[in-house]
Amino acid sequence: MADALYINGRFTTTDERVLGVEDRGFQFGDAVYEVFKFLGKRPIFLREHFRRLEISLRTLEIAAAWADADAFAATIRELLARTAFDDGIVYIQVSRGEAERSHFWPDALTPTAVAYSRRFAFPDAAKKELGIRVITTRDLRWHGCHVKSVNLLANAIAKKEAQRAGATEALMLADGFVREGAGSNFFAVKNGHLVTHPLDEHILPGVVRDRVIDLALGAKIRVDERPLREAELFDLDEAFITSTTQGVMPVAEIDGRVIGNSRRGEVTTTLQQLFDALEAAS
Ligand code: PLP
Repeated sequence: MADALYINGRFTTTDERVLGVEDRGFQFGDAVYEVFKFLGKRPIFLREHFRRLEISLRTLEIAAAWADADAFAATIRELLARTAFDDGIVYIQVSRGEAERSHFWPDALTPTAVAYSRRFAFPDAAKKELGIRVITTRDLRWHGCHVKSVNLLANAIAKKEAQRAGATEALMLADGFVREGAGSNFFAVKNGHLVTHPLDEHILPGVVRDRVIDLALGAKIRVDERPLREAELFDLDEAFITSTTQGVMPVAEIDGRVIGNSRRGEVTTTLQQLFDALEAAS
């Protein structure tokens, strides 16, 4: 069934073919995106996602697609009103726009902005307790991972490699350090402390990552924002990933090696519960 679709100021459905072949998002990956979750038609952390979208656009000098957070929220309200289901995700993409193909983009291009809703199978209680298997792989991405750009080829290759190995996520390794997951941020737990990569050009500033750090500090759990060395990866008490669609998801195995005592750890459980409560209340 077709989903509700917003494109450049009007609403239609995903049945309609709306993009030109010379859209720079299609030809150059010259576009940024966001994904947020909605529950009971209530967008979760919408302001945070809009803020990150604005930063991505500004960083790449793509024109703003919405005048401000209120205009964005109004579009999302209407999109969700047109959506046939209550829980799911919204995918938003803004490209630099459409122009005759050339690496040199014309100034003052009108961006192409789309947003559509999708059903999504969020992890249930059993999955959240069991956790996931992950593999490690080489980080083939560029030095602009802090921008949520649609250049996801290296991420997609890493994810496919994980799938072929019977896992669901791939941890990106570079220069001897663990960066993040192909579609998530990574947290290690050692001696009751959290270790996660600091915010820089090697990782995406995850909305859930931010919330989880705040929740940890509020619960008096120490957080070390430093790159974890590859060698530390197999001497952890617990590990988990964070993302909009997975929330706080325990990592049960890395490259086939069991983490901790093979059950969801105490720190992970605490943060998962705190995060689920925050999401439910927001
Ligand atoms: N890192 C990468 C590479 C991602 O693609 C994502 C989510 O798509 C994340 C981290 C987690 O970000 P968020 O918590 O905002 O969903």
